[in-house]
Amino acid sequence: MTIIEECKRIDEKLNCFTAIADKIDSEDLVFSLKDCICTKGMISGSGSNIISNYKPVFDATVVTKLREAGSIIGKMCQDEFGFGTFCKNTYKIPKNPWDTKRSCGGSSGGSGCITAALDANHIAIAESTGGSISCPASFCGVVGLTPTYGLVSRYGLIDYASSLDKIGVMARTVSGCAKGLDIIAGYDSKDSTSINMEKQDFAPTDNTLKIGIPKEYFENVDENIQKLVWDAIKILESKGFEYKEVSLSLTKQALASYYIIAMSEASTNLAKYCGMRYGASEDIGDRNFNQYFSDIRSANFGMEAKRRIILGTYSRMAGYRDDLYLKAMMVRTLVIQDFKKAFEKVDVLAAPTMPMLPPKLSELENIEPLKEYQSDVLTVPINLAGMPCVSVPCGFVENLPVGIHLMGDHLQEKKIIDTAFAYENKRGEIKYPKV
Ligand code: GLN
Repeated sequence: MTIIEECKRIDEKLNCFTAIADKIDSEDLVFSLKDCICTKGMISGSGSNIISNYKPVFDATVVTKLREAGSIIGKMCQDEFGFGTFCKNTYKIPKNPWDTKRSCGGSSGGSGCITAALDANHIAIAESTGGSISCPASFCGVVGLTPTYGLVSRYGLIDYASSLDKIGVMARTVSGCAKGLDIIAGYDSKDSTSINMEKQDFAPTDNTLKIGIPKEYFENVDENIQKLVWDAIKILESKGFEYKEVSLSLTKQALASYYIIAMSEASTNLAKYCGMRYGASEDIGDRNFNQYFSDIRSANFGMEAKRRIILGTYSRMAGYRDDLYLKAMMVRTLVIQDFKKAFEKVDVLAAPTMPMLPPKLSELENIEPLKEYQSDVLTVPINLAGMPCVSVPCGFVENLPVGIHLMGDHLQEKKIIDTAFAYENKRGEIKYPKV
């Protein structure tokens, strides 16, 4: 069976693709792309009905680089524009390969799913605003690496919140992620926030480092998950890594600040989808423009997108802006300082990736939006700070994968990669489920 045939078979079972390539030139190294990454001639709908027919006439910078290194197999399901933690806020909901009744995590759910399901030399290119690579990596039992903001070009990424969005990678191994990052990282003059620096080497090497354990990151975490994460820390200790407890006292405030900033930016980014130049449109008839825009947006945005447009617009409104948006921006600076202080004492921080196991798909409708936002509490702060992180599988609870989250200072990808690599070597291989 060819890889493309295999992808079609997996999609029938797990519902994880939004588009599959007709054919590929070589099967040596294949890439899947989160739907929000513009790919010439392939649907790039960002999981949204409002642009579900959008076929870009250009490639995102990362896609140009990927085409030189291997072949693209297809586009992967995600929450609409990245708005979600369980990959349920969209029209095609992927199923977890470890238990098809459960969520893959979000928003890059399809990317996590295919990485666990496809037995090939495959790297998934995904995106994280507040944890959308770490969460599905943890729920699907794969490695997920989110780089420093600005290390990978965002040119051609359909934006969620521009000051937070980062393109990153998922693979079955730490080396796979390092290789993926190596291919896509680098300065790009087409992205004004791209960092202009010399190319680094991300390939993992043996290294012993100092680990900090943020005590706030173990509160309200499932006990079985806590235990597996501690077991992993002990394994690192046996390899010569030292650890000590540290405090990140602004963890809860980081979550509130993130959601205000992310929604404020999302509400402006989504303004362009009004039925004129981008996405869904129809004959205006005898409606005035306001009525027409409102009709198009009401019919084509999902519930969560609408909630975020309303909340984000409110946070930026005269009279509320100082109290909400600007205050959130100040908290963001304090969160960065909080991390910087911790990184004066340690090289890497280690904590659980998610506080819970992958929830059942049938239970998702009953999860209140606020509860969903709260489940991001461990992944959001490091994303808000624009610092790199990697989730690595560290065991199973009732056959459901659990991830340990390793977080580093700005541009210290190598340190989290080396720590993840040291742990992975000792942990041994994972046997992925047969789909
Ligand atoms: N769950 C978070 C949110 O809904 C993160 C999503 C993401 O990183 N794209 O904003």
